[in-house]
Amino acid sequence: MDRMIRGVSKNARFILVDSTDLVREANKIHNCTPGAITTFGRFLTAGILIGATVKGDDLLTLRTETDGLVGQMLLTVNSKGDIKGYLESPGAGIENSDVKISEFLGTGILRVIKDMGLKEPYIGMSEMNSGDLAQDLAYYYYTSEQTPSVVILGVSFDETGDIEYAGGYMIQLLPDCDDFFIDKLEEKIKAIRTFTELRKGGMDLERIIKLIYEDMDIEDGEGELLVEEYKILEEKSIQYSCNCSREKMFDKVIVIGKEEIENITSEKGSLDVECHFCGEKYKFIEEDFNF
Ligand SMILES: [Zn+2]
Repeated sequence: MDRMIRGVSKNARFILVDSTDLVREANKIHNCTPGAITTFGRFLTAGILIGATVKGDDLLTLRTETDGLVGQMLLTVNSKGDIKGYLESPGAGIENSDVKISEFLGTGILRVIKDMGLKEPYIGMSEMNSGDLAQDLAYYYYTSEQTPSVVILGVSFDETGDIEYAGGYMIQLLPDCDDFFIDKLEEKIKAIRTFTELRKGGMDLERIIKLIYEDMDIEDGEGELLVEEYKILEEKSIQYSCNCSREKMFDKVIVIGKEEIENITSEKGSLDVECHFCGEKYKFIEEDFNF
């Protein structure tokens, strides 16, 4: 079962996510190439990281508009840890397996939409310039919230080509963070193995955050030891989940208009639609519409 943990220390707050099952599920639904699911899997993991603090009925939507091979990507995540997503070109790169992973993502715009039940949702926008979503996300937090962040995202495969691990973490410096902590954190992140390698080595999320905070205490130069203790504040299960229904789909279908619907149902016998997020198929016949 996928999960995330969230916590805080004197100088930073952190979120860690194991998204292996939900990325596998997304791969099954969308039938992606390895390059596409690596990119989409990182995107879904990023959604959990950004959406970790979503509360109540609030909804977070992320949308990429880039020139990358996967095309546009979209996801929504709620406070219950339900996430669903869509990518334009899951078959990207099928004819050429030598494509660099950065080309799947490309460069462009990231939109962050937080619907908090207000009349107007909050919409943040950030440039995606690096070809690496983790870096693009750190850039988003730095420019929109002036929060220096370390973001790590990963998807790994086993020998048979199946998804082995997916997940990542984000560490954000708190305002007035000690300089020594920033330096040590950067050193530490560079020194440890990648997230998926750590998972493969048998570490769970709690063990990984322990590793990150190991040896982070430092002498302040006057003989005093500054201890960086951390605390886990929340643990939550997360899952790929779509809330589509026949009723909701009907409401979407009806807007194409009476004439168009009658054309389709008389020609094909039914109007068939498929949910973008979960692949569920819905069939409507003329009698379903009260024209
Ligand atoms: Zn659905």
